[in-house]
Amino acid sequence: MFLPINPNVIPDENDEKKVAEFEDWVKWMELHGVSLFYSQNGSLMANLPIKCTALTDDKMCGVFGTEDRPEMCKTYPQSGLDLDGIEGVCTFKFRKVERKVG
Ligand code: SF4
Repeated sequence: MFLPINPNVIPDENDEKKVAEFEDWVKWMELHGVSLFYSQNGSLMANLPIKCTALTDDKMCGVFGTEDRPEMCKTYPQSGLDLDGIEGVCTFKFRKVERKVG
């Protein structure tokens, strides 16, 4: 699961105290299995290695077609940026389409 991190948590690089606090926070996150990365558009993202409780043993969505399925699951992925960092896990791909004009 990938979640965007509020950019306000990223400290000004000249503020040593805030940078130290941020690095300590990153260390704490990593000790809890959460890794941080920057997406292609420069947004700070968190990867939470949490398995969805609706995922069945045969890798199907247990709430597919029900109102319990979150809207974000129905529309995922909305862009190639949503696939940042999961290239080895998800087989979904976006392909660039060349359009001829005229
Ligand atoms: S699609 Fe279904 S299994 Fe996958 S994250 Fe959404 S609710 Fe969970």
